[in-house]
Amino acid sequence: MGKCTFKGGVHPYDGKELSKDVPIKELFPEGDMVYPLSQHIGAPAVPVVAKGDRVLAGQLIAEAGGFISANIHSSVSGTVKAIEPRTLATGGKCNSIIIENDGQYEEVEYVPKKLEELSRDEIRERVKAAGVVGMGGAGFPTNVKLTPKNPESIDYIIVNGAECEPYLTSDYRRMLEESDKIVQGLKVALSLFDHAHGIIGIEDNKPEAIAVMQKAVENESNMEVKVLKTKYPQGGERSLIYATTGRSINSSMLPADAGCIVHNIDTIFSIYMAVIEGKPLTKRIVTVTGDGVKNPGNFYVWLGMSYRQLLEAAGGVVGEPEKYISGGPMMGFAMYSLDVPVVKGSSSLLVMKEDIVSKVETSACIRCGRCGEGCPSHLLPAKLAGFAARNNEAGFLKFDGMECVECGSCSFVCPAKRPLTQQIKSMRRTIMANRRKK
Ligand code: SF4
Ligand code: SF4
Repeated sequence: MGKCTFKGGVHPYDGKELSKDVPIKELFPEGDMVYPLSQHIGAPAVPVVAKGDRVLAGQLIAEAGGFISANIHSSVSGTVKAIEPRTLATGGKCNSIIIENDGQYEEVEYVPKKLEELSRDEIRERVKAAGVVGMGGAGFPTNVKLTPKNPESIDYIIVNGAECEPYLTSDYRRMLEESDKIVQGLKVALSLFDHAHGIIGIEDNKPEAIAVMQKAVENESNMEVKVLKTKYPQGGERSLIYATTGRSINSSMLPADAGCIVHNIDTIFSIYMAVIEGKPLTKRIVTVTGDGVKNPGNFYVWLGMSYRQLLEAAGGVVGEPEKYISGGPMMGFAMYSLDVPVVKGSSSLLVMKEDIVSKVETSACIRCGRCGEGCPSHLLPAKLAGFAARNNEAGFLKFDGMECVECGSCSFVCPAKRPLTQQIKSMRRTIMANRRKK
């Protein structure tokens, strides 16, 4: 079978051997649970509970604050203790609902349904009610993604099983352990479109997952597994669309403009849970890994519990780790506190004995061109970083700086260790903020 790929990309050490063979373990949270009202792109959710209210697991505690927004549910039973700003893994603060967990895990009554019983509107409504958002980190409300302007033009629903970020193994474990629910989630998504075809894209460094998923789709006439070449950022939306369909999109287009909708593995699983089992999004898989963790593994986590408890469940740290990262090493962000909640977009806690990045010394650009060769968006990162350093917006725009997907490949390959991604990212933020002001 030919392997699908894209132009550019890099090959970082993947570190997946640390946790890939550790089955998913469910964790029961203790103590207070924290539910930030912004766990998605768009307007914050609006609380529908007040201090002192008793809530059940699965109960709606905050409802979508706009069209681009998402509902939030309690993952435990207990009492609302406060609604106040709390620190997030990113370091910022966000108004949050705090629930004192009573340890009973009393749940609301869920209403399961068969796919055949539901109209398309009812399916979208169940996805919306369950608060499902893109769980790869983007946090875009899934019901909005499943409601494109021209539904008849959707040709492909692509499930992102690439998991190209080094160290992360949660999608891999989900594919091995719950392939049937992934297929059912994809079936639900496909049922919303007249002629869409399902593609599950998996990198070729995961042969077991490829075999399991191929078996799971063997009787599905409108689904297939596509084997992707292992290369970072193969799971980036644009790279994945190109690799699996040959179609290209840019920053001014949505995947739907190219007839595609992309969902990550956990999101498609959550679509199944919402529509068929009637359960809201209150749990996700998080990989806890790195050479600074005693027992790396994959955990099924109640949203709202703290990263500290997650780390304890993995046996705690080895020595005195220098770096904690939420997400993967390429696109994740450094954490300065573990007393922050796991949210819908939390994929991993990576603990590293050594903070290599802060120790590298930057030197002058030697014009080797490696950053351009590795860029999946075919940009000239050295040039763009130069414009960013001089705050030259016109030059940055002329050389398509807004097409950067902030994947980190250019910084990774640069022999002079120049902070290319950081500079480009910061210029992009400034331009986007200026555009919003106008
Ligand atoms: S961070 Fe941006 S400029 Fe650098 S390689 Fe990725 S897409 Fe290209
Ligand atoms: S990879 Fe680094 S040294 Fe090479 S051209 Fe790009 S910025 Fe310069």
